[in-house]
Amino acid sequence: DVVILRIGHRPERDQRVTTHVGLTGRALGARGMYLAASDKGVVQSIADVTERWGGEYFCEDNVKWRSCIREWKAEGGIVVHLTMYGLNLPDVIGEIRPKRKILVIVGAEKVPGEIYGLADYNVAVTGQPHSEISSLALFLDHLFAGTELRNEFPGAQIRIIPSKAGKQTEEL
Ligand code: SAM
Repeated sequence: DVVILRIGHRPERDQRVTTHVGLTGRALGARGMYLAASDKGVVQSIADVTERWGGEYFCEDNVKWRSCIREWKAEGGIVVHLTMYGLNLPDVIGEIRPKRKILVIVGAEKVPGEIYGLADYNVAVTGQPHSEISSLALFLDHLFAGTELRNEFPGAQIRIIPSKAGKQTEEL
């Protein structure tokens, strides 16, 4: 059970990036995303994709990050915060992989210092600055060791038929 917690979202600036964080989580095997801000636009875009492309992904906005983390831990989950200041992914992924319940925190601009202490693991996807989308994608891929690339999305209205050239889809 892997869920994303997106913090620091600014509705005027981050709508597109946060939507992509959510869609990346969905495509790569997470169960849903908590958004620590109010943004129905993001919630709606992700719901639209899930309705058309299948699966059970959720997106919940107006989440308070402190209580979200507290409740997650109370349910026995662990908390991974993605930050370039953390321990490098290949050095910790082996320890994280066996955990059954993982909350993955990604930030936007500056992340509150408290998050570093609340996280069980501060994980860097290289020690270079890049993005919440790329760091999440690589973290999930290493966590699931590539198996997520073959996930199925039951209940879809549409499915892509992989093709060498051109676009082939199937309406279901
Ligand atoms: N400079 C900000 C800070 O110090 O908190 C981070 C800004 S970055 C654009 C937004 C988010 O991308 C971060 O909060 C982190 O989750 C993620 N991120 C960026 N580079 C990363 C890296 N090398 N490893 C892990 N996460 C990264």
